[in-house]
Amino acid sequence: MSERTDLEADLQRKREAAAANRPSRAEAEAAVRTLIRWAGDDPDREGLRGTPDRVVRSYEEFFAGYEDEPIEILSRTFEEISGYDEVVVLKDIPFESHCEHHMVPIIGRAHVGYLPDRRVVGISKLARVVEVYARRLQIQEKMTAEIAQTILIALQPKGVAVVIDATHECMTTRGIHRPGVGMVTSQMLGVFRDDPSTRREFLALIGRNY
Ligand SMILES: [Zn+2]
Repeated sequence: MSERTDLEADLQRKREAAAANRPSRAEAEAAVRTLIRWAGDDPDREGLRGTPDRVVRSYEEFFAGYEDEPIEILSRTFEEISGYDEVVVLKDIPFESHCEHHMVPIIGRAHVGYLPDRRVVGISKLARVVEVYARRLQIQEKMTAEIAQTILIALQPKGVAVVIDATHECMTTRGIHRPGVGMVTSQMLGVFRDDPSTRREFLALIGRNY
């Protein structure tokens, strides 16, 4: 059996296991009612009556990334090339995610680059990989590494670079209250790690000079 068929069978098993453990919509709405009561309000008052339904629908959107497998997005669509040996960069990919510690938004931009070896992929697919990982509960460091690893495995390039610049509402709206503070994470693999000039080229292309 081909590599791709094995991957798909494995992903199908994972999806079935996740679906079997999933609570019902009614259970999810009841949990929202509990949180409204915990906050000190009455879930039955007029303004809040539709809220559990709206929150559960919002969660479907915020966390839609669990439905998709990023590696599959790239594995299906790459093209074999030869001869192109320049860095490919997609910068300023906007994303919204949620921190896994507080479940509040992380808003930011991702910059993704790779140096192809044999395979290239449409840039919209790179943006899609960022989106799928963003639409899960995340920490920024993990998301940065996951995006880089996925591109490395799927495209087997000479190197991958990912920089994410984001603000965390758990830092700006609660706890230490530091509005405007951004966090930058980066993951450099292959030539981007080993060759300072390739790394500098990437950082210059995304408009950063560290
Ligand atoms: Zn947090």
